[in-house]
This record gives sequence, C-alpha cells and structure tokens, in this order.
Amino acid sequence: MNKQLRKAIIAGNWKMNKTPAETTKLIEEIAPLVKNADCTVIACVPFVDLHAAQEAAKGTNIEIGAENCHWATSGAFTGEISADMLASMGLKYVIIGHSERRQYFGETDVTVNNRVKAAIAAGLTVILCVGELLEQREQGITSEIVSLQTKIALQGVSKEQLSQIVIAYEPVWAIGTGKTATADQADEVCGVIRDVIAEIYDIESAGKMTIQYGGSMNEQNADELLSKIHVDGGLIGGASLVAEKFAKIIEAASK
Ligand code: PEP
Repeated sequence: MNKQLRKAIIAGNWKMNKTPAETTKLIEEIAPLVKNADCTVIACVPFVDLHAAQEAAKGTNIEIGAENCHWATSGAFTGEISADMLASMGLKYVIIGHSERRQYFGETDVTVNNRVKAAIAAGLTVILCVGELLEQREQGITSEIVSLQTKIALQGVSKEQLSQIVIAYEPVWAIGTGKTATADQADEVCGVIRDVIAEIYDIESAGKMTIQYGGSMNEQNADELLSKIHVDGGLIGGASLVAEKFAKIIEAASK
C-alpha cells in the first residue's frame, strides 16, 4: 500500500459543544494556526452552529461538516435534519455512525447504512465511524465487529461512490476516555478495514481509501499514530475544541 495515494484528513468532532458565537471565536482562533496545513482540515459542528462556522471559515482552508443526518429527504421526522438540507447549505462533510449515536440514540448498522446512502445521494462526503466496544476487544472479536460494521454500512454503495467515503476507526473504549489505542493497535485495525474494502471492491479502491483513527488522539500522541501506514488522519473530539491542540495534530498530519 502506498500512503502517498491518500490525502490526510484531520476532522474535529465538536459534539454538543459551542454556541454560534463561541463557534465563530474558535474557528477564528484555529484558522491562522492551520493556514499552511498540508492535509484536509474539517470542523464538524452542531447543526445550529453550521452557518456561523461557514461564515467564520470563509477564505480559510477549514471545511465545515455536520455531525449526523437523516436517511429520508424530507417528511415527518421531528427534530431531524436531512442530507439534502445540509447539502443545500453548501456543506460537503457529515459524520455518520459515531459511537455516541449508536450508544445513546439507537443507531444501528442498518440505519447507519441508510444515512450513508442518503448522504452520498445528496453529494456529501461521509466520515463513517466504526469501532469495537471494550468487551468485544477483550473477547478477541475486534476484527469481526469492525468488518461487519463496515460491510453493512457500505451495502449499496458503488465503487465510484467510494470517493465520497472516509472511514474513521474509533475504538469505543478510547473515545473521550483519555485511553488511546496504541499506534500498532490503531494500525492493525485500520489495516483490517482496508482489507475489507479490498474484499468488497478491489485493491485499488482500498489503496485510495482514507482511514482515520479516532479516540483520545491529541497533540502528544498524534505523531506516532499518524506515522502508521494505514492511519491516514484523525477524527478528534476533545482536542479539537482547543485551537492550539487541534493545530498541533494538523501539523503532525502535514509532515
Ligand atoms: C470523537 O468524538 O470522535 C472522539 C474521538 O473523541 P475524543 O477525541 O475526545 O476521544
């Protein structure tokens, strides 16, 4: 595999943090620190912050994304936001299948697949999250779980549409816990995901797929994680809310 085929992507996942005014301030803090980045920089922010984020990011190299979208184009789904609505705002990216959606909001592999297809149809690029629970890692079934999540999420997605997919490997036990997978553990599972892409599609598609690691990635461990052959970037929670920390991770990805 040739890592040079893939552009590194560092995406922040702000989760349920920041008001629109705070969003403007944080994007304005991040922008000058990352202006020379040699990787794609994305901030995925709460729905109500999207407009403020887009305005603050104008003229910078920061792309703005959402944290979820519904699978229907419109209809009686109170409180939901469609992929078409996001695309109509000029957005390009959306996170789908984050473990917090799976854990707290009943997201399943099937609903993830439906949301992925809707986002692709709307022209968005999906950051698709997969990852095992601690019990599953301890049982030795990480590869099976992550492979199955990936296969179901990509059902009905064509080889051509893979250019609209980025995969984030996020071990659930490492998210927001301060426990990071070792660089070797992250590399191994990102490699498993790449093999799954080769199996479903082909080796060329697998070689081009950007696979991020997420789970307590920070300014201290980013260098080592991002040096691994199968780790093409990061999905960053906590550290993406502090401009200097996020910028350091982007610096590591730009090497
Ligand atoms: C995430 O929210 O996807 C994440 C990886 O969070 P954290 O970096 O805080 O572990």
